[in-house]
Amino acid sequence: MILLLPYYDNLILIKINRESDITFLSASVTDFADSLGYCEYKIPLSIQGIKPKPSQSLFLGTKAHHEEEKYEQDHVELEPVSFEEIKDEQKDIEFARENIHSILNVPFEFPSENVLVTLSGRIDKILRIDGTLIVQDDKFTGKPQTYDLKTQPYPSQLLQVLAYLNSNYSAKRSVNPEDWFEMPHTQKKWQIRICNRKTREPYKIFSDYQDAFSLYYLHSSLEKFATISLGITNPEHHNSVHKCNACNLKSFCDYRI
Ligand code: SF4
Repeated sequence: MILLLPYYDNLILIKINRESDITFLSASVTDFADSLGYCEYKIPLSIQGIKPKPSQSLFLGTKAHHEEEKYEQDHVELEPVSFEEIKDEQKDIEFARENIHSILNVPFEFPSENVLVTLSGRIDKILRIDGTLIVQDDKFTGKPQTYDLKTQPYPSQLLQVLAYLNSNYSAKRSVNPEDWFEMPHTQKKWQIRICNRKTREPYKIFSDYQDAFSLYYLHSSLEKFATISLGITNPEHHNSVHKCNACNLKSFCDYRI
């Protein structure tokens, strides 16, 4: 029997640790993207340690991710890459699928406290081509047709790839700073591939370059994430019954409508 560990990185819940004059706020990229991109009321639930029960859809998505990773291992030969090659922004590089961890540290100075927000995650695919740093995230779905009329990805999907694009990277989950590196680049690009869960083929791809507007969106979302997590501001309700009905935390939430 093969044990399929959940692919997503939200095993880490939102953690707050106050040490002398700095507040350390750590979370997974998924926790951040899901709460700011879907519902801010997920933040207090995550701080309380409430985790969603793994759904059938998550299980099938995890299975598809593992199959895609195995396919690449069997069919694509990727050469080892040195730190010197990583530093050379003209050198094309492709890392093996799901092999790169990310960490994003962003400090904030609020009137009440100095805060360091740390988001960690694992990236589906990261590569550099002609100086462009590209982060790819695959969403496996049983009904890719539901995206037919969409011209933009969901906010949570966009926040996820933007967080990855602005992180440091490592080939292992490590606390040693020497294991982490930056990826020099001339520009940054995200790709969100909506894939058919059965065939694993991309059905639709959303893609764009990072610009000043998307960077501002990421930064203001991080700031909001920090202020809500620390109780400086309150979450705002989206007032969507549809969202609450589809929410994986609805059975734990007092704010469900
Ligand atoms: S049930 Fe509704 S209010 Fe509560 S976390 Fe889910 S989406 Fe947000």
